[in-house]
Parts: sequence; structure tokens; C-alpha cells
Amino acid sequence: MGGGIRPGSMTERARLAKITQPASARKCPRWIRGEIGLKIYHVEEMPSSDPPVNDKVEKAVEVEVKSMHKELINQMEPKAPKYSFIQEATSAPEVSFYDYIIIGGGSAGCPLAATLSTRNANVLVLERGGSPYANTTKIRMENFIATLTDMSPDSFSQSFISEDGVPNNRARVLGGGTTINVGFYSRAEPLFLKQIGLDEALAKDSYEWIERKLVNKPASFEWQTAVRNGLLEAGVLPDNGFTYAHINGTKTSGTIFDRNGNRHTAADLLEYANPRRIKVYLHAVVHKITFKTTDGTRPKAEGVIFYDANGGKHMAYLKNESNNDSEIILSAGAIGSPQLLMLSGIGPADQLRSLDIKVVLDQPMVGREMGDKPLNSLIVPYSNHIQLSPSTIVGIANSGESYILTFNGFDLSALSVSGGDQLQSSKAPQEAAASAMTNLGIISGSIKGPISKGYLELQTTNISDNPRIRFNYFQAAEDLRHCVQGVQTIIDVVNSKSLSSFRFRNMTTQDLLKMMLSVPLNLRPKHPNATTSLEQYCIDTVMTVWHYHGGCQIGKVVDRDFNVFGVDRLRVIDASTFTFSPGTNPQATIMMLGRNMGQRILQSRRM
Ligand SMILES: Cc1cc2nc3c(=O)[nH]c(=O)nc-3n(C[C@H](O)[C@H](O)[C@H](O)COP(=O)(O)OP(=O)(O)OC[C@H]3O[C@@H](n4cnc5c(N)ncnc54)[C@H](O)[C@@H]3O)c2cc1C
Repeated sequence: MGGGIRPGSMTERARLAKITQPASARKCPRWIRGEIGLKIYHVEEMPSSDPPVNDKVEKAVEVEVKSMHKELINQMEPKAPKYSFIQEATSAPEVSFYDYIIIGGGSAGCPLAATLSTRNANVLVLERGGSPYANTTKIRMENFIATLTDMSPDSFSQSFISEDGVPNNRARVLGGGTTINVGFYSRAEPLFLKQIGLDEALAKDSYEWIERKLVNKPASFEWQTAVRNGLLEAGVLPDNGFTYAHINGTKTSGTIFDRNGNRHTAADLLEYANPRRIKVYLHAVVHKITFKTTDGTRPKAEGVIFYDANGGKHMAYLKNESNNDSEIILSAGAIGSPQLLMLSGIGPADQLRSLDIKVVLDQPMVGREMGDKPLNSLIVPYSNHIQLSPSTIVGIANSGESYILTFNGFDLSALSVSGGDQLQSSKAPQEAAASAMTNLGIISGSIKGPISKGYLELQTTNISDNPRIRFNYFQAAEDLRHCVQGVQTIIDVVNSKSLSSFRFRNMTTQDLLKMMLSVPLNLRPKHPNATTSLEQYCIDTVMTVWHYHGGCQIGKVVDRDFNVFGVDRLRVIDASTFTFSPGTNPQATIMMLGRNMGQRILQSRRM
């Protein structure tokens, strides 16, 4: 064990982000990673065997199952839709003209583009990443962590570490977050829809449009069922069965993985598009939105400058200069959208001038009020192998203030600073710590909101660099209180009868708390009282659930029709416009918003 820095590890990411790690993390030797790919079966594929009696037998079973598994994957791989309109940006003309130019083919961008293309208008989508259809193995359920931590230049995931010391990820692929996420699908609470000015009935229509194409009722998984029953025992009631709705209690919700473990992404929504009216360019990195600002008039977005994979420069302009039926729509996500607005001259003037960016509009609220839902977990090692499960259940607990979710069987070591040997050197009983390397369930709590807010600032003028981001997790006392309540519920679930058959008998809740504190999943200092104070535990062990939002909020940067204040022909439609993150998980609502706004824009179109 020991040696160099593993590509994709948090050590490597910290090094790239130039963040100094705590001494304890730097000293840790590497963890020998478990090949979790071998141990993943769908419930119907699961060989029904007793636990292997010795290592030799276990090895033989694994080898056999590995080849079975590979064969099954080959048989089940989804056939990539042959979209003739999705092309590499290298094939784009130097100059082109469109009615709608959408920046970012992500969760909001794909449904928006598909919808806009269904009328008499030409739509261009510029996506900086590649296609999820190029290698569908990468987006299978069991490859979630490997894809997320891939550090290659064309990775679907761009990692960053926030100023809070918490590693995080941004999508860089067609389909956006839906191509790299955990896949849990759940709608927003009605209050959220009201806040962003969406009619509930129309929103329902748009949700259903998404669900018909992407969303599945999950199979029943052993671990998810146990946690679900544990939540009910812990009093997270009522049992709401299977539903997409956001209701207090325990429920099973949808997943964008099908029953064969294949992921369906927002890119699949492009099947709704009119192929004659849409063009999607991949590896098309937009560097700037350009504006017409003659005679001191209100700036008018006129086009974008983008670069292809060979460094070739292209310009795309809006048609119909004289009216507002043509527009640019920024759907580059909660980090990409405020970043590109600023690089295009819309943002806090002082910040822009300090980087020699010409100010088009002084807008101090761009990049402000960035929020992210915190995630705090307990790792529960178990002795017997259980099949990997996607996240399919959620407990909306404590009067709706905290959310409990779970998954199991993933190789968590890839997310830690230096692997999992900390588990072995932790105070956890030895057999449990060893087992935790590959056999583990993770029960996590997140919170409503959150109320705490941070900021995003440019560090450079290169669009491919990560901006500086701080979320200020738990700055608001209420957020911390909700986290503590959630962790207390997790402890109750862990101690429930339903989980007792999975647990190591000699491992106490204190051991579990200590074990979690010993795995460096973030770069924050660990305090000795974190096993006795749940407040401190929340602060020290916080991770992200990747539900970041804000930076171009409604009412501050965009109006209720998502038009950017102070300029014409420019909207922002994605998670950056949200004041808080919808429901337990946002992807359903972000895709719904893309569809819904596409319809609204078409309704107001005069031609
Ligand atoms: C690891 C992970 C797990 C998650 N798990 C879940 C979950 O289980 N359930 C859930 O509901 N939500 C989950 N989420 C959150 C959810 O996926 C995101 O909130 C959502 O996808 C964001 O949608 P968006 O449209 O705002 O941005 P995105 O989907 O990220 O789309 C932005 C797109 O813009 C592109 N882009 C950015 N800048 C440029 C540029 N300059 N030029 C061209 N293109 C550009 C990006 O490549 C990207 O494709 C998860 C997110 C992550 C990262």
C-alpha cells in the first residue's frame, strides 16, 4: 500500500485546486480499492447462493459472475439513438444564424431545445461536453463513482472543491447533471412552483412529458427496503408507497435508471425534437455572449462565440434582429451560467474590471446567493454481500425539514482523500472496518432549503477554469438544527430492527460516528467532540448532495419569465435561477422547467 497520488482521488483534486489538505490526510497511505463492479447484480440477475465458504470459492464465484455480468451488460446496453442533428462542433460553419441559441445541453437545455424546435424556429444547442451515447457503459449504474471521479480531459464530470473544503462536481456532457447523477427522481413541493411562478397544472403536464421518456418505477432492492422499513420504525410516517410527489413521510420514488441498470438522461428528451429544426454541437465551448450596445441603448444579445475541440472559432448569431422573437438562452447550470454572464460583461463591475472584462451591465447580484444542500452520512458496514442499489427511497422527516436517503455497494474510497485505510485504523471493530471497504450501506441526511448562502467569483477569464465558490454550509442556525434532527433520525434507523440483521453486533452507534469521522471525505478539520456533539458532527463531516443552485436568481438577476434584467433577448433557464433547491432532489423540476419554459416561449412567439 502507499505510494503516489491516485488519479481522481481527492488528494489529486485538492492538488489541482491548489488547496492545502490537513496533515492527517496528506500522510494517509492509499486504500486498496475494491472492484465493486464484480459485486453488482440487479435483483432479477442475482445468483441465489449462500455466502462463499472460503476465499477460493469466493474468487471462483466472482470470476464466473463477472463474466455473466459482462455478457448481460452487452445484451442489455441501450442502442444509442441515431440523432443526425447531434454533431461535433468541428463541423460547424464559422458563422451561422438561428432563432434560438441555447448554451448548455444539460437537464434544462435539452427539454427546452426539443420543445422550441417543434414550431417554426431553428434551434442551436451548444454543449461543451461529449455525448452520453458514445460509450453507454460509462453511464451504467455501477459505474457511477468511476465516471464521477474520472479525471481525463474528456471526463463527463469536472471536479472542484468549494472554499468550504467540500469536493464537488459539475457535469460536462450532453444531458448535463442527469448523465452523472445518482438518478433519484422526485417532484417539487407546490410552494416551490408558486415561488417560481409556475402553474401547478401546467407543471404537472411538463413533469409527465419527462416521465414518459425517462423515469422508471424501481425494482425492490434489499438494502433500500431495509432502510425504508427502518424509517417507518423510526417514525417517519406515513408510508406513502410509490409516488413522485413531495409529501412528508417515507416513500419510494422514481429513478432514471431502467431495470437493467442503464441510465436515461435529459439527452433522451431530444427524441421529442423536430430533427429538421435543431442542431446540437458537442465539444462546443461558449466563451462569450456578445451584445449590441449602440448609442447608449439597452444592450441587446446578438450572438455567441464558441470554440470546437480543435480550437476552431465559430460565431452563431440570432436571426430577426428587429424583434425579440429570437433569443439566447443560457442553460449552463448553476456554476456555468453566472460564470458565462460575468465573462460576457454582466456582473459586479468591480470584479469584472479587475479582470479587464468590459462591463456591459453592472449587475452586483450575478454570482451571489449560491446555495448547496449539505449531505451528512453514516456508513453502515455489513458482513454479507448485498446487491448494489440505486437510491430509490426517501424519508421526508421532521415535519419536512430533513430528508433521509440511502445507497449501498458503491466504492466510496474513490471519493475520499486517500482511500479507506482510515477505516482499518479507526476504532471500529476490525472485521467491520475491513468489511466496510466494499460492503457498506450509506444512510445520508440532507435538509430543506437551505437557508445558508454563499457566492461565486471569477478566478480567471478562462471559461474552462472553475470559479471560486463558497456555499457557507450551516451558516444559518436553522440549517444546522435540521441537520442534527436528520442525523438523529439516521441513528434511529440504524438502530431499528429492520437493519439489525445487517449490522455487526459489536459495533455501536459511537463506532459508526467515529468511523465516518475517520474517512476524509472533505478537507475540513475534525474536532474531538464531533462524536458527542451532533452539531459538530454535521459541520465536520459535511459533503455535498450536488444540488447547488443560485447565482442568477429570480427577482435578482432574472424576472419571472427568466429574462435577464437590463438587457434584451437573453434569458437564463436552469438551477442558477433558484432561491432554494426544489423537493428532495431537483432534476425532475429542472427538466420540467426546461419543457415548461419552452412552451411558454413558443406561446408568446409572434411568427
Ligand atoms: C453527482 C451528482 C449527483 C446528483 N444526484 C441527483 C439525484 O439523484 N437526483 C436529482 O434530482 N438531482 C441530482 N443531482 C442534481 C441534478 O443533476 C442537477 O441539479 C441538475 O442536473 C442541474 O441541471 P442544470 O440544467 O441546471 O445544469 P446541468 O444539467 O449541469 O447543465 C448545464 C450544461 O451546460 C454545459 N455548459 C456549461 N458551461 C458551458 C459553456 N460555456 N459552453 C457550452 N456548454 C456549457 C455543461 O456541460 C452542462 O451539460 C446530482 C448532481 C450531481 C452532479
